Amino acid sequence: MNAESVDCLVLGAGPAGLRAAQVLAEAGREVMVLEKKATVGPKTCAGGLTAKSVSELVPLGLPLEATFASVGHVRFGGEPCTALDAELALVRTISRAALGRMQADWARAAGAEIRIGTTARGVDTDRHEVSTGGGAIRYHHLIGADGSDSAVRRALGLPSPRGCIAAEFNVPGVRLAPLRIECDEPALANGYFWVFPHADYTSIGAAALKDVIPPRRLRPYIAGRAEALGAAVDGVPFEAATLEVEYHGLHFPGGVHLAGDAAGVASSLTAEGIYAALVTGEEVARSIVERDYPAPKTRRWLRVKARHDRLMRRLRARWARTLTIGALSALVRVPPARRPLARWFVDG
Ligand SMILES: Cc1cc2nc3c(=O)[nH]c(=O)nc-3n(C[C@H](O)[C@H](O)[C@H](O)COP(=O)(O)OP(=O)(O)OC[C@H]3O[C@@H](n4cnc5c(N)ncnc54)[C@H](O)[C@@H]3O)c2cc1C
Repeated sequence: MNAESVDCLVLGAGPAGLRAAQVLAEAGREVMVLEKKATVGPKTCAGGLTAKSVSELVPLGLPLEATFASVGHVRFGGEPCTALDAELALVRTISRAALGRMQADWARAAGAEIRIGTTARGVDTDRHEVSTGGGAIRYHHLIGADGSDSAVRRALGLPSPRGCIAAEFNVPGVRLAPLRIECDEPALANGYFWVFPHADYTSIGAAALKDVIPPRRLRPYIAGRAEALGAAVDGVPFEAATLEVEYHGLHFPGGVHLAGDAAGVASSLTAEGIYAALVTGEEVARSIVERDYPAPKTRRWLRVKARHDRLMRRLRARWARTLTIGALSALVRVPPARRPLARWFVDG
């Protein structure tokens, strides 16, 4: 069978892959996106967009009315929930289905082809070829934007520990306020619990490192917290997924590139991955179009991520958690400290 051939092949129609496809197509490059699911968009995710993600998406066409806005609150230890800075900690939520639909429209309008229901089964980086159930596709450039369980990352021989796990109940018909992050050290160690209200449902979940908190503990913990907050989760599907947070680079020999979770660019501290997916998707694509593109947003984000990852590593020690959570709990009660805290954790 003759292999098809395309200039730029993108695996995965998540925020990273669709952003990359849009940029490449706008630059006049031939782009094909393969997406294994039958629908573009839906993914286990709380759908939280920080201000920096919103500032990437609004110029592309995201209508703010499609999102639900809340000021982020935090709770450290036994203290009550406290609102962070109203501007820097404004978080907008959107379902991943809605975000995926919009990004797919933008990419298609630019000229990208998106093939849904098509799984990349084999990646042969020597032959520049990806096999699907229906045959093989040759590429000049391959972008692995296929999420935390990335076939492209594996084909490159990179480690894929997928060290972070996040899990949630999306409770329909409930809008639980405030939007919050809670550090519950005894239960989640250096992980955290969240409540992210959307217009017509609320994501209630938790994130933790798999080697610190056994993943099986998350479901009873989240269910118990949800019920204590008055949100019944009986009959609500429980969803869990891993994040890859180990970064080894974006560009590899043979025209192979990684973006988003496949590249391990999410923050291990906040589990925020949409912004990192959008900017690495965009800038990996720009680097293909323009030799020596400096990728300023990616470089800046990788500095933020390095700070987050360093703190997360330190917080593996119980004494460091006790000290840090105690200090944050005191700091957040001082109003002038709330803006720098929001800048450090959310604004990046
Ligand atoms: C429970 C949970 C809550 C989260 N909440 C937030 C949040 O509120 N805010 C935030 O910023 N981040 C959040 N994240 C992180 C965020 O979901 C990810 O970082 C983000 O989706 C990464 O985008 P991506 O495009 O790299 O990968 P994905 O969104 O994972 O997209 C990858 C795509 O590739 C497809 N694919 C995979 N393998 C193949 C294959 N072999 N062939 C074809 N297609 C394939 C998948 O079906 C998928 O559509 C959360 C994560 C979890 C698990």
